[in-house]
Amino acid sequence: MSSISEVYDVLVAGGGNAGLCAAISAAENGAKVLLLEPAPKQMRGGNSRHTRDIRCMHNRPTSVLSGSYSKDEFFEDLLKVTEGTTDKELAEIVIERSSMIYEWMISHGVHLQLPYKSALSLGRTNIFFIGGGKALVNSYYKQAEKLGVDVLYNSRLVDMEISNTKFESAKIIRRGFPYQIKAKAIVLASGGFEANLEWLKKAWGPAGENFLIRGTPYNKGEVLKILMCKGAKITGDPTECHAVAIDARAPKYDGGIITRLDCVPFGIVVNRDAERFYDEGEDFWPKRYALWGRLIAAQPEQIAYSIIDSKSLELFMPSVFNPIRAATIDQLAEKIGVDGSKLNKTIASFNNAVEKDCSFDCNSLDNCKTKGISPPKTHWARRINTPPYFAYPLRPGITFTYLAAKINRKAQVIIKNGSPLQNVFAAGEIMAGNILGRGYLAGFGLTIGTVFGIIAGRYASKWKYDE
Ligand SMILES: Cc1cc2nc3c(=O)[nH]c(=O)nc-3n(C[C@H](O)[C@H](O)[C@H](O)COP(=O)(O)OP(=O)(O)OC[C@H]3O[C@@H](n4cnc5c(N)ncnc54)[C@H](O)[C@@H]3O)c2cc1C
Repeated sequence: MSSISEVYDVLVAGGGNAGLCAAISAAENGAKVLLLEPAPKQMRGGNSRHTRDIRCMHNRPTSVLSGSYSKDEFFEDLLKVTEGTTDKELAEIVIERSSMIYEWMISHGVHLQLPYKSALSLGRTNIFFIGGGKALVNSYYKQAEKLGVDVLYNSRLVDMEISNTKFESAKIIRRGFPYQIKAKAIVLASGGFEANLEWLKKAWGPAGENFLIRGTPYNKGEVLKILMCKGAKITGDPTECHAVAIDARAPKYDGGIITRLDCVPFGIVVNRDAERFYDEGEDFWPKRYALWGRLIAAQPEQIAYSIIDSKSLELFMPSVFNPIRAATIDQLAEKIGVDGSKLNKTIASFNNAVEKDCSFDCNSLDNCKTKGISPPKTHWARRINTPPYFAYPLRPGITFTYLAAKINRKAQVIIKNGSPLQNVFAAGEIMAGNILGRGYLAGFGLTIGTVFGIIAGRYASKWKYDE
């Protein structure tokens, strides 16, 4: 095995948001930094290149956020979605420091949008950046390079030598060849294991085979596995993840946000057996779409179909894929491969259950609902009776997994006896599960990665001086 002769102060594994924040922060604190990214340059940036917005606390309106979003409200939102499965100490660090993130982002070349007004209603809590995640990571790569950070593409961390809780060197594979790299400290920012189908199947059983991966194919959990072998404490449940309903025709990996579908509340959703299985109108779609990944994962063959009629086609953002269209329900059933008589029966019983006197309003939780069927549809229930009919196939689209390396407030990785690996730090999705045991708050993945990336980079850079 060859050695890379330069000895670095800080080695960063992973070139997404968290790794870049760590690399920049370490370099700004005087460290000589090397960043490893398994993807080629044109595919760099991990899941972060698909992002659009980041959640930040603020006590008064700012140039990029309207109103206020207090620490207490942020914390309450987190407790609600995680049902309390969060490390409160780490969560508090993220929330408090999130108030400073946007200035840090601006000073590192990111262009932020003015408060965003839309149906998503996120203008008060989340900041959107111009050019999305691709522009974000490009700005950070540019900053990192200006600060003298070396970047090795096509290079992944495959092992670490650790003795007496101290990282000594890393083994990497670069373009198929192994190398040893020495560094005084290492930051692990290599994402979750969502792109590792074998691991997904271990957690979910055969259903995992049918999941689509919304982000990078490079997040295979390789570094998380190394940490497990080195006795790191692992927190969380391997089946916990962010999973949404996306168009089943999306590519297996890296489809990003455009594969998402917003039609569900305006029709019915049936499984392979033409049966409905959940209230399609429970709440506004942005509040429910993350639930549907799991719902579809529990259906036979992990496939479902959103069925609407021509009344509803203009009510949602057009999808990148054309709907499957037919003049009759029988023809639609044939095109999507479900039993026609069963689908007719399901639609007839749904139509019969739709209450007559209501006023349909797609912008409010209206009073159009069903009566006497299970599951009910509690809003936006209208008869499906106006041809042509349309179907969108749906599959679970996994965003990122929550199984995580346990860390402390300095971002040091903790081993099973509770002590830290002195110079091994983690940031981003690889540790996000400390704070997100379950559920999700839009824009919080980046908040966690940015705050802990900056912390990890700073403490890792100190190793130069502490030895
Ligand atoms: C479609 C989509 C949209 C999203 N939108 C948002 C959003 O708007 N806001 C938000 O907050 N979150 C969003 N997320 C979640 C979000 O991407 C993350 O929480 C955050 O960007 C993750 O940053 P990260 O640096 O931890 O991981 P990533 O950005 O995934 O980076 C991990 C990096 O590690 C590298 N890597 C993997 N294995 C190794 C190895 N063995 N050695 C070295 N490097 C390795 C990968 O190549 C990758 O570059 C979205 C995710 C997806 C998929």
